[in-house]
Amino acid sequence: MRRPLIAGNWKMNTTVEEAASLATAIAGGLQAGYAVDTVLCPPFISLYRVSETIRGTALKLGAQNMYFKDSGAFTGEISPLMLKSICQYVILGHSERRQIFGETDQLVNEKVRAAVAAGIIPIFCVGETLQENESGKTGEILTRQVSEGLKGVPSGKEVVIAYEPIWAIGTGRAADGTQAGQTIGLIRGVAAGILGQQAAGTARILYGGSVTAANIAEFVGEHQIDGALVGGASLKAGEFTDIVKQTASLKAKP
Ligand code: PEP
Repeated sequence: MRRPLIAGNWKMNTTVEEAASLATAIAGGLQAGYAVDTVLCPPFISLYRVSETIRGTALKLGAQNMYFKDSGAFTGEISPLMLKSICQYVILGHSERRQIFGETDQLVNEKVRAAVAAGIIPIFCVGETLQENESGKTGEILTRQVSEGLKGVPSGKEVVIAYEPIWAIGTGRAADGTQAGQTIGLIRGVAAGILGQQAAGTARILYGGSVTAANIAEFVGEHQIDGALVGGASLKAGEFTDIVKQTASLKAKP
């Protein structure tokens, strides 16, 4: 049984004050307690403030990126050492990092290994472009990204994988739930070749890409899909908490 996980990627949105208010509203909406690991990923500058805001709640904190060295002359970067005292999770290899900031599979792999070594759970993102999807290359691309990204991750270390088809991110055009479930089944199979059958079987694999309160049921209703990485809809406390609540009730069903 894999415990469901919903993570909110706030991207480059919210001031420190806005981030604290949003976190307070989300914590308030989830006060009753739900069997879903719920992770807030604010911008770096708000991490500390949000960590204070959610202290004593069940909410967890994640960063949106990280460099793989612990310290040194890496201007503008944030290290595992800096994150590990306040963050339980870190998003790595998001398609915006890969596409806009040129992150390669090799760099993402360094980061994933550094995160697990520091005891931070990576939310490792993979996904194909529209062109790759339409030319039937989805399987090939995901196999490469998963194999390269997880290479050398020691067995027994927890990794969360997020399948985020790039054409579905921020477009309002979510993938089809059944198809996403099948693709995630494929990802789990590739992960088994790297992490081992048991670790891949217990690893949580999320869907991401235009998830809303109106379509979350389609995804978490799939056995292979253990939750979602939510962008735009995670900036609205009411909608985000609704996504968490629906996930809790759907995943609780046998
Ligand atoms: C994301 O940022 O990872 C994402 C999936 O964004 P959105 O939900 O807005 O498509």
